[in-house]
Amino acid sequence: MIEKIVVGTFGVNCYLMMCDETKEAIIIDPGAQPEVIERVIKKHEAEVKYIVLTHGHGDHIGAVEVLKDSLNALIVASEDEDDMLQNPNYNESSRICDVSISFQADKYIRDNDVIKFGKKTMKFITTPGHTKGGMCILVDNHLFTGDTLFHKSIGRTDLYGGSQQILLASIAFKLFNLDDKINVYPGHGPKSTIGYERKKNPFF
Ligand SMILES: [Zn+2]
Repeated sequence: MIEKIVVGTFGVNCYLMMCDETKEAIIIDPGAQPEVIERVIKKHEAEVKYIVLTHGHGDHIGAVEVLKDSLNALIVASEDEDDMLQNPNYNESSRICDVSISFQADKYIRDNDVIKFGKKTMKFITTPGHTKGGMCILVDNHLFTGDTLFHKSIGRTDLYGGSQQILLASIAFKLFNLDDKINVYPGHGPKSTIGYERKKNPFF
């Protein structure tokens, strides 16, 4: 089960993914409005084990600390995103959010690491470029891409740690190697597939 919850003024796609057999679940990018996200979790009676961050920008992390306390879940992020999570100037929260955000993840992952929840396995694919520690999360044939890859677009690269050259390489050599049929769930906007983006994304 995957439910998209659009939150905050930047319209971030937060996702709840649950293992239907065990009800164990993950929350990806809880950017804002924790009460809205909690309502969806309750509706599914999901037991959230991990709060997983595709990257550390303020619009994607605004509800992390509230949900961590209420859900007793562990925060998972790339080890290369650590400085951004801890620095409100790097993560833009001091500029775009009401409050400055600074925290550390409970688990820092590297490329190709895996973590299980219920009977599902998350595989982490580091995709730097939008930020230094940007990553995508693959569960079954579903890929959560954050602000790395969008439907017919890619993430901006003008903020701290960004590089368009590195972002294009991450997508071309790591994501476009995946199967055409894999569903793409981006951090903003509608979903897509790897096959569609490989053929139609104007940046390639
Ligand atoms: Zn971002």
